[in-house]
Amino acid sequence: MSALKSRIIKSIQSEGPLSLSSYMAACLLDPVHGFYPTRDPLGEDGDFITAPEISQMFGEMLGLWCVQVWRDMGSPNPFSLVELGPGRGVMMQDILRASRIDPGFAAACDVYLLEASPALQAVQGRTLAGAPCPVKWADRIEDVPLQHTIILGNEFLDCLPIKQFIRKDGVWHERMVTIDPDDESKLIFGISPAPYPHADDIAHFPEQAKDGDLAEYCPGLAQIADQVHRLLGLYSGAALFIDYAPPSFEFGDTLQAIKAHIKVDPLDSPGDADLTARVDLEHLVRLARGRALKTYGIQTQAGLLARMGIELRAQALAKSKPEQSDILSRQLARLTDAEQMGQLFKAVCLQSTGLPVPPGFEGLHHD
Ligand code: SAH
Repeated sequence: MSALKSRIIKSIQSEGPLSLSSYMAACLLDPVHGFYPTRDPLGEDGDFITAPEISQMFGEMLGLWCVQVWRDMGSPNPFSLVELGPGRGVMMQDILRASRIDPGFAAACDVYLLEASPALQAVQGRTLAGAPCPVKWADRIEDVPLQHTIILGNEFLDCLPIKQFIRKDGVWHERMVTIDPDDESKLIFGISPAPYPHADDIAHFPEQAKDGDLAEYCPGLAQIADQVHRLLGLYSGAALFIDYAPPSFEFGDTLQAIKAHIKVDPLDSPGDADLTARVDLEHLVRLARGRALKTYGIQTQAGLLARMGIELRAQALAKSKPEQSDILSRQLARLTDAEQMGQLFKAVCLQSTGLPVPPGFEGLHHD
């Protein structure tokens, strides 16, 4: 049994069942045994692959997005470009390369990376060694200074710990991680006998819930909304989140564990598999609006990339490297086809008041 699993079992034996959010936090972020701090999980040879790792075109489109938003803000100098969970730093590298269409952008830019994994911080440092602007790491988003800011997060929100709830006798009970009574080395799901006491947190669950329904709630989204508001409230700015998300709230268990590109049991090997859940972007939008931010979307990844002109970029790249045109059209299909990432992944933009509609979100304002 892994060291983390035996620690989790000991903690359940002494203190009782664990909330799924505490279990996920230990699995993903434990500094010694957690999934992220101990490895670089990205890429074809790793555990999973993400849009910026599939194709440079993804980061380039976001680079054009950032330059337009920065110009709409009045080209402030200095400004912060914050990335939450930057993985290998590839997206930021592509963004900064694409931003060369306006050299003033990099000249004004301070990059802040928020990264929980020392292993990935080291990779990011190597990837961004030649960056045309200062690159700093912040331990907490609270540490990013107040100035004009653009915030980006791709596949970041889906690894924030979630709680799960099961509807029983008309009330929500929290789903807990506990020990199998027939096998002390096995973790299983149980359900808390008492109704969940913090009803306000889950007041947004749809009222038509039936007994047996399962619903998910990510406590970290409120912190994200608070911090986006802190950073965008005083100066102008915008935040773009892209993630694996339904178009609106859905019941059901979406917790997934992926190890070497294969789905595994989320309770089987704590710390050795990536744990993610679909993101309730609708709730993030609601939280942001409650903090007087403007919100745009939810739209599909395919929609955003098409509006940003990814087809033209693919054609231009294929023209300059004809030998790669098959690879480029496969990459484009992976990012935008409905059966691939195009529909399942969604984008939202949160923005300070008084700015024009962010690029790629025309006609998608919420009010
Ligand atoms: N955005 C990258 C990586 C996605 S994987 C890409 O698209 O390729 C998730 C990233 O978020 C990893 O870099 C992981 O280490 C980081 N991460 C996960 N939880 C975090 C947390 N609580 N704080 C900071 N970074 C976190």
